Amino acid sequence: MSTTRQAGIDIVADLRSDTVTKPTRGMRTAMARADVGDDVYREDPTVRDLEERVAGMLGHEAGLFLPSGTMGNQVAVQALVPRGGEVLCAADAHFVTYEAGAAAAHGGISTRTWTTDDGLIDVDTVAGMIHPGGSFANRTFAVVVEQTANLPGGLVHPLQRLIALRELADSTGVALHCDGARLWHAHIATGMPLHVYGGLFDTLSVCLSKGLGAPVGSVMVGSTRLVDEARRLRQRAGGAMRQAGVIAAAGLHALKHHLGRLGEDHRRAHDLAAALASTGVVQPDRVHSNMVVLDLEGTGWTAAGLVAAAAEQGVLSVAIAPRRVRLVTHLDVTEQHLRHAIHVLTGLLGRGTTEADRSQRRPSQPMP
Ligand SMILES: *Cc1c(COP(=O)(O)O)cnc(C)c1O
Repeated sequence: MSTTRQAGIDIVADLRSDTVTKPTRGMRTAMARADVGDDVYREDPTVRDLEERVAGMLGHEAGLFLPSGTMGNQVAVQALVPRGGEVLCAADAHFVTYEAGAAAAHGGISTRTWTTDDGLIDVDTVAGMIHPGGSFANRTFAVVVEQTANLPGGLVHPLQRLIALRELADSTGVALHCDGARLWHAHIATGMPLHVYGGLFDTLSVCLSKGLGAPVGSVMVGSTRLVDEARRLRQRAGGAMRQAGVIAAAGLHALKHHLGRLGEDHRRAHDLAAALASTGVVQPDRVHSNMVVLDLEGTGWTAAGLVAAAAEQGVLSVAIAPRRVRLVTHLDVTEQHLRHAIHVLTGLLGRGTTEADRSQRRPSQPMP
């Protein structure tokens, strides 16, 4: 960042997103050594290994390697919902907020959304929204749930609510898709086996390129029938890949070496929240995984103002609402970065409001 360099700051704590991680040396070695083949002919052994491994971890029959989590969500939901059908999700879900209208544009799917006070799923609310179809209402075919829930602040939906949602799905004939971009984090935060989460959903999509630190890639899992359909939809989206073992190897390496360490990211997020608690902008008990959301209401700071002021001192974050800033811990955030972030943010938030109020820049586009 040129601003930080001008200010003579030689440390930059990049807490914008866990997508900013770079492949490690070990990961690059694994990529260089990968056995590959043409995956469209199903001849790439590394891709097949990754697909089978992730499907097995989540307790599903089959998996499909994809270039992005967006494509994972889209092929899964388009496999579950016919053209003209309806899907339900949270109003701030990635599926409806950050996928450029793909469900409507590519799948002819309409989306209806819910909001909740605390960002966690409320099964009664969902139950009240399901339309069985008929002459007027559009029939609800699927419900999408994010685990962890990103914009609410990396929150983990309690297992009991997901079980109740599964019961609702079974009794109404609606399918469930999990946007599990950070399902790994929920698993590590709660100790709940991945296959327990996996067993509650018809399809799941998980990202290798977020907390796990791979440069690219997601895997969607489900029954053989649904994954076959998703494979056809991936082709339609132009997402089929050839010698993709080179990138699948990064995912396999990440599963082996970076899944178990996510607890470190969670601990750092908790430490950050605890250190900022006295400024009044965070509730430490709202930190469930690797994200900390600063609620600037009543401080005089705008999110854009705080983001800009922190960036000048080498702490990068994002505005996710006019008065909300998100900080994310990940593989490339060290103890030193964390101390620097705490130092800078307590300094700014302790200093109060005057400069912040003058900064009337629009909040930057939040990042997934
Ligand atoms: C990042 C993310 C995705 C997928 O993003 P891509 O950039 O397409 O890989 C999906 N859902 C959530 C909640 C995310 O944070």
